[in-house]
Amino acid sequence: MPQFSNYINGQWVPSQAGSTFDNINPADQRDVIGSFPLSAAADVDAAAQAAAEAFTSWRLVPAPKRGEILRRAGDIFERRKEELAAIMTREMGKTLTETRGDIQEAIDTAYYAATEGRRLFGMNAPSELANKMNLSFRMPIGVCGIITAWNFPIAVPSWKILPALVCGNTVVFKPSEDAPHSGNIFAEILEEAGVPPGVFNVVHGAVDCGKAIVDHPAIHVVGFTGSTATGKAIAARCGELNKKVSLEMGGKNAQIVMDDANLELALEGVLWGAFGTTGQRCTATSRLILHHAIHDEFVDRLVMAAAKLVLGPGLTNPRAQVGPVINQRQLDKILTYVDVGRSEASLVAGGSRATDGELANGFFMQPTIFTGVQRTARIFQEEIFGPVLSVSVCSSYDEAVSLANDCAYGLSSSIYTNDVNAAFRAVRDLEAGITYVNAPTIGAEAHMPFGGIKGTGNGHREGGWTVFDIFTEWKSVYIDYSGKLQRAQIDN
Ligand code: NAD
Repeated sequence: MPQFSNYINGQWVPSQAGSTFDNINPADQRDVIGSFPLSAAADVDAAAQAAAEAFTSWRLVPAPKRGEILRRAGDIFERRKEELAAIMTREMGKTLTETRGDIQEAIDTAYYAATEGRRLFGMNAPSELANKMNLSFRMPIGVCGIITAWNFPIAVPSWKILPALVCGNTVVFKPSEDAPHSGNIFAEILEEAGVPPGVFNVVHGAVDCGKAIVDHPAIHVVGFTGSTATGKAIAARCGELNKKVSLEMGGKNAQIVMDDANLELALEGVLWGAFGTTGQRCTATSRLILHHAIHDEFVDRLVMAAAKLVLGPGLTNPRAQVGPVINQRQLDKILTYVDVGRSEASLVAGGSRATDGELANGFFMQPTIFTGVQRTARIFQEEIFGPVLSVSVCSSYDEAVSLANDCAYGLSSSIYTNDVNAAFRAVRDLEAGITYVNAPTIGAEAHMPFGGIKGTGNGHREGGWTVFDIFTEWKSVYIDYSGKLQRAQIDN
């Protein structure tokens, strides 16, 4: 079985204790991709020290030059796109079309970060005193600890790592233990692009490894993507340690369909939003709120369309539209929620594990739909993270928005309507970091702010220009060229 390593200070090394874990293809458990280091505090310490040392020189490399290296990384991601898509599909299950999209997001982010090397704008303001100049600059912070989930093994790390690097920070990255191979390819690509040793490090492992990153005194910023429970624990620890932390956490996203909507479009949207990536997106559509006038017709069409979705292993079945869920634990969790749902609402599609033919050895779950879901139901309120859609009925715009907002999370939201007034009101009223009009809850673009409110985030936004607020601190500079002591607030 292939043995994979950590990447520390430009070297491929095993974990110091020699412990490992296996990486398994969720579409076929018999297919073991390889064993990866199960790292602990000592490995994180080696990586953090290398990153701290590398920071002393990387921060002095002109930002346009750092950007040039990231542009090359984007080119290499492009060159290795097909190979990397296959690696990703094998280790986390989504179809090749989707893993190609995952890599495209990293390419877009690399090129965006590259150009930002020539911007990273500061701001100036006039001084209140004569012969004095006020400037402000974005400064790198130091070593960033990046901890991510498995569902976007290249895209999500790229949203954090590439902006962090162009700003002059160095990185210790812990990929998810469910998609570690993609993390190693990330290191290969950055190395080939010219990122110097120690600037980017990969340490594989699970909870203990993540905790060691959060705790390490040389790591000053933590960028996390994962569940809300984990994110809250990390934020609490970062609070004690006075560390900057950005959190991208869970979602329970709703698509509203009003009675004047284009139903065909809304149907296509919910199929992609709810069952794309097997429902394992933070932005997945897990609630559908239907106006009562179109409810019955829409549900009939939805159930028929969901039954036609082709489940299968993305690597070997080019017709597959819905891959497996990530592992046995996640499958068990989904099946438990299906049991909960049976007691709370009506099951109208799916509800079981799928084991026919080529699905027999994978973690496949039928696309599942519940109707008559009340706002108090657990399947309405809690993130399931699988191909399970909860349908509720509303009788007005106000009720639709009230249902959509009755949720602990606030990542994505969507409304299908041809009433321009309702569309603009929804943009204003939906409590979410992202609102789509006549498009599903998934589909974020790399150059726009990405993140959520309420239980989804802690006020930061990745993507676009906003991510640079996470990975820099502002420095204010006052230059007094009067040749005398000038006292602010006193001598003006
Ligand atoms: P998870 O919270 O179990 O794990 C995420 C990462 O944190 C993994 O690398 C894990 O090893 C690490 N980790 C776990 N416990 C830790 C701890 N105590 N300290 C430090 N690190 C720790 O999440 P998951 O199951 O891998 O991913 C699914 C979740 O991720 C869902 O809730 C989903 O909504 C969320 N997600 C959010 C976004 C977003 O941008 N908002 C994107 C993708 C996924």
